[in-house]
Amino acid sequence: MLVVYPGSFDPITLGHIDIIKRISNKFDQVIILVANNENKKTVFSLDERLNLIKQSLKESGVRTKKNTEKSNIRIEKHSGLLVDFVKQEDCDFIIRGLRRASDFDIEYDMARLNKHISGVETLLVSADPKFTHIASSYVKEIAKYGGDISGLVPEIVAQSIKQKF
Ligand code: ADP
Repeated sequence: MLVVYPGSFDPITLGHIDIIKRISNKFDQVIILVANNENKKTVFSLDERLNLIKQSLKESGVRTKKNTEKSNIRIEKHSGLLVDFVKQEDCDFIIRGLRRASDFDIEYDMARLNKHISGVETLLVSADPKFTHIASSYVKEIAKYGGDISGLVPEIVAQSIKQKF
């Protein structure tokens, strides 16, 4: 089965990486899809976010298609409706992560909407308790004021954020 794990990944965190590791062990193929949403202001550009994902996975010992043909993980970017990408690539499921009840409210609505407009199904994967407190937005806020973000993001991301702020 082919699944797509979409997100802003601004930037990728250890929570995202945990989900990627877990789903890539369960499904034949995984596409990590970086959203190019013009309405959402991001700290990292689309290419920076893609690069950070590539380097972070390498740092975490996760192989991607670019590194080796044996990998079942691809990293792609997309503008426009997620469901259009899902149909174009013939993905079986959209994967989203759930950290807490407030995530559920949003994700459940999105899952229902995507199902309604396209028939595409979403699987919600619960975050590992070790990572439920991690969000890209918190990481950026802490980094902006010089706080310590080690243990929240891969080392390469921590270095890149320091350069940004
Ligand atoms: P978006 O802007 O689309 O929500 P994010 O990059 O913030 O993109 O998140 C992508 C997906 O990863 C979402 O389903 C989100 O709930 C999930 N996610 C974010 N942080 C974590 C975490 N710490 N553990 C597990 N899942 C997470």
